[in-house]
Amino acid sequence: MGVFTVKSAYNLLSNLNLERAATGLSSSRVHQWELVPELVWKRIWSLQTLPKIKSFCWRVCAEGVATGDGLLSRQVPIDPSCRRCGANRETADHLLLECPFAKAVWLDSSLSYKPPTNQVPKFSDWLNSWDSLYRQNKKVARESLSHASFLCWYLWRARNDYVFNTKNWTPQEIITVAERAFLEFHATSASGHATTFTSYCASAATINWISPPVGYRKVNCDATLRNRSSKGGLGFIFRDHRSYQVKAISIPHHFKLAVRGEAIVIRCALIEAVAVGFANLQVESDCKEVIDYIHDQNQHPLYEFSTIISDIRRLSSSFDFISFRCIPRAMNGISDALARKALSIMCMTDWPNSTPWLHDLCESEALGCTHTIL
Ligand SMILES: [Zn+2]
Repeated sequence: MGVFTVKSAYNLLSNLNLERAATGLSSSRVHQWELVPELVWKRIWSLQTLPKIKSFCWRVCAEGVATGDGLLSRQVPIDPSCRRCGANRETADHLLLECPFAKAVWLDSSLSYKPPTNQVPKFSDWLNSWDSLYRQNKKVARESLSHASFLCWYLWRARNDYVFNTKNWTPQEIITVAERAFLEFHATSASGHATTFTSYCASAATINWISPPVGYRKVNCDATLRNRSSKGGLGFIFRDHRSYQVKAISIPHHFKLAVRGEAIVIRCALIEAVAVGFANLQVESDCKEVIDYIHDQNQHPLYEFSTIISDIRRLSSSFDFISFRCIPRAMNGISDALARKALSIMCMTDWPNSTPWLHDLCESEALGCTHTIL
């Protein structure tokens, strides 16, 4: 066997026939069929997704994916470590579930049933664990798993683009592209489920506020501007995995452009998070423009708020984990209420969680109810 480059090895093994030729192994050894439990097998083949994604999910369970570890186990002389995080063995389980990059994608996705974060996960075990969700609500489980399959596929695409230096995807790009592909698949499939899936994305996946995982805080931020004046209000609320209010703050502030206020409130929230010592933070805002600027390091923001965006990027390095996500306004009601409250107060106010109107809003949002904006 000659000397392989990374690219030639992957290209070679992407074709099954060539794979067999290169390794001299029978298909039953390249794909370890016996590793896939019956229930997982059935789950994969009943997946409502693209055939290539089904096949990919099956190969993940059968350890037949050309990852660094997969190639090494087939005697391909290659560095088996993960290119992103340096983990010793790049297995499919690692790149889909365990790698910090994959975790960022799952955490920030709108999927309500996410892979476990407190153990070394196995993809087939995770698929198996969907059984409890299927028993609770088959329709939601089927739709969620379909959505998850698209996220897996785009994690794999992004990994290949990264290894071959084609493109360096951000977690947010993967989430966006995967969700679009998921919707397009169901809109164009002949299964007649288009309406169902569209409503799934518009309701379960996007309207209800979702609490962060254990050990994480989520902060929702919003800004408001009084008509025909530069008097504005900023509001943000930190909550934990139980949906409990950790901090809820209103700040009166002067700004002329609403978008500037939206950037200022995120900066204020990050400063507060650093001061309090939150290490893992999910940031949500309903201002797409500001979130896009934060995500795209190559995009130079408007002069009006370039300094603020730079501050946000600098502050971000203080966290072990941080993500920024744009959400619909309907999901950002409490921070909107806090921002409006700021219009009628004289100085920054840290509202205790016994505040009746705030308590009621938090409760209704945690239950997934539509709340009344103050
Ligand atoms: Zn990794």
